[in-house]
Amino acid sequence: MLPVTLQGVGSLEAIELWESSARLRHPIKAAHGTHDHRTILYLRLMTSEGEGWGEVAALDNPSDGDPSLGEVRQHLESFWIPRMIAAARQRDDGGLGSHEIAMLSPGSVTDRFCSSALEMALLDAELRRHSLSMAQWLHSDHKALPFGMALGIPGAESIEDLSARALLGSEAGASRVRAKIDPSCAVRYLTSLRGALGSLDLHADANGSYGLLASDQVVAELTELDGLDLRCIEQPLSTNDLTTYAQLTASVATPICLDEGLDSPQKMSLALRYEAASVFCVKPSRLGGLRSALAVLGQAHDANMTCFIGGMFESGLARASLGVLAGHPACSFVSDIAAPSTYFAQDPCELGGPVKALQELWNHSGVGPWPLEKSRSLVGTFLRSSL
Ligand SMILES: [Mg+2]
Repeated sequence: MLPVTLQGVGSLEAIELWESSARLRHPIKAAHGTHDHRTILYLRLMTSEGEGWGEVAALDNPSDGDPSLGEVRQHLESFWIPRMIAAARQRDDGGLGSHEIAMLSPGSVTDRFCSSALEMALLDAELRRHSLSMAQWLHSDHKALPFGMALGIPGAESIEDLSARALLGSEAGASRVRAKIDPSCAVRYLTSLRGALGSLDLHADANGSYGLLASDQVVAELTELDGLDLRCIEQPLSTNDLTTYAQLTASVATPICLDEGLDSPQKMSLALRYEAASVFCVKPSRLGGLRSALAVLGQAHDANMTCFIGGMFESGLARASLGVLAGHPACSFVSDIAAPSTYFAQDPCELGGPVKALQELWNHSGVGPWPLEKSRSLVGTFLRSSL
């Protein structure tokens, strides 16, 4: 999976911002709040040779170190878009390559969410210009992969209802259930899910909810889960506490996974050096884009660590890119690649859903399907000539 730099796509003429919204079929309660609705922001890059689309992955509300969609939009409008246009103006051909975006980044998490969407838009334009799919760009032969489903913390839905829904999901083809937990429900909830699902892959996602407990209490509570044959416990602690993560990894039999704590390739190097986790949830948007995600996957593969690609309730455009990344050899756990039709009432991009136990991967030109005209509204235009 070695990405090749493509030739430019002509001069950058304009960048537009478009918005869609989507409602989740079932609200997902997590330790940091409930997801029931999603605003999705898209970037449309228009060049002299064509166009490309990128999707901003940030959620409406900030959580655990990730910026809100509003913060990312404001930073795109005030910093990144003017900077992109200024950089393009300085070039003789007026163009910019997707491989150059990371180099423009000053380095905050908000910057990385911005650069991820911009990189996606440029790459989409480049791939379409060359009639290449993202899988061809990465030399990936995968046509379809197993997919998973997510469940929230019990609240409005009881443990029994959630366990019944997990069973329905597995009967519909999901190969892995990823359940949000917190210390108050973990043992009862995961025991019920294990009973309903038999030997199906089960992940627990704590979203930092054990972070207020003393470290020996965290070890004791997580050790209680060791008999449930979980594939991993994701992000039990707050984002940056790598030394306590190392203690957990050494003390708890269930593999410990970093999610929110993995926000740059540099952090991956530290996590590997500290032996802070043995599983990594790789989210390209938080890492700064697809190339940064590939760098982290490469690091994990070299260190013999396990990864999966994590989703943020994307629409079909960004989801399609996650599906292709999930074919990386470091991803030996099931990734978040199920099409949005499995969790949204309506996907603005209408990416095709799974068939039986497999999610077919995007195999057309570009990164993924664009949002349909009927599902999007224009919310900003930035012309090269007027900036
Ligand atoms: Mg997580």
